[in-house]
Amino acid sequence: MKTSDEAIADKLTGWYEAVKRQLPWRESRDPYHIWISEIMLQQTQVDTVTGYYRAFIERFPTIQALAEADEDAVLKAWEGLGYYSRARNLRRAAMMIMAQYGGRMPESYEELLALPGVGPYTAGAVASIAYNRPVPAVDGNVMRVFSRLFSLHGDIALPDTKRLMQEIGSRLVSKSEPSSFNQGLMELGALVCTPLSPKCTQCPVQCFCEARKEGIEKQLPVKKKKEKQKEVVIEAAVVRKGNRVLIVKRPAEGLLASLWAFPSVQKDEGQQDGSSIRQELETAYNMETGLHGYLGEKVHVFTHIKWLLKLYELRLQREGALDYPEVRWVDMEELKKYALPTAFKKLLEYIEES
Ligand code: SF4
Repeated sequence: MKTSDEAIADKLTGWYEAVKRQLPWRESRDPYHIWISEIMLQQTQVDTVTGYYRAFIERFPTIQALAEADEDAVLKAWEGLGYYSRARNLRRAAMMIMAQYGGRMPESYEELLALPGVGPYTAGAVASIAYNRPVPAVDGNVMRVFSRLFSLHGDIALPDTKRLMQEIGSRLVSKSEPSSFNQGLMELGALVCTPLSPKCTQCPVQCFCEARKEGIEKQLPVKKKKEKQKEVVIEAAVVRKGNRVLIVKRPAEGLLASLWAFPSVQKDEGQQDGSSIRQELETAYNMETGLHGYLGEKVHVFTHIKWLLKLYELRLQREGALDYPEVRWVDMEELKKYALPTAFKKLLEYIEES
């Protein structure tokens, strides 16, 4: 006689094999491919990832190719996906795999977890999907399914609840078909047990679902509302030299770290409009500028912060004698070779027009 856990695992596995979507990374069991797709899918929709995934694998077909690539080339291939630390960590992890594992992706959950940018979910996904290891892969979608299936009312943002979910995943994961089981759970969360209107009548585990029995499936999972994003005003500048514009490399720490962008700085509350960025150019790059005009503004929303980006045209009056490696003058064609963050790309319409 099967336990209900085993029956749930069987139902899910069978359902997944029958209904799974054809996605490019599912054509492969190559752990490198699975890893890239899982990292891309962390904060991005499947439809968007499909195109990026194919292009990335073509550009960097092996772990070795990724490890040997320039960071700027990897960031360029990532351009538009956002959360650039994911791309940087992929490259760093590829270098580590070359150095420690001779270029072969490690197989165990623990070894995977030690790679930069790989958390419990990704380690579980790669170990189970690529190597068929019976370990859980619990992300937000899976936590939603578990909350409903077992009528759990803990806040899924809290560490204790996450720990509990991980334990349920370990207990439930099919020992014979962990790959199909984990992908079945992800597919269920993505297609059937969706956040606002779960399609319970199509659900393969409906007869086991506690929340459905209680009629409270739409009230779960419990998740504390996010605090409102802090809003800040960022002043950015277009500074020209002939037909070239100034771009600078952002600091190695913080938001959009190490990416090339137009010079920018958070507006100093007490300062006049356009003064903070002029001050920044002087302090950071020994460059004197005059305010020529205001070009426009765009809003860009990050996870915890909202930028109101105001763009000013500044006239170069004196360029510092110092040679800063993190400063470049580029024409509009050259600019396309840089992985300009989306927030700054939004400003291009003002620059191209002016
Ligand atoms: S029955 Fe409904 S709420 Fe329960 S797991 Fe299935 S889709 Fe989700």
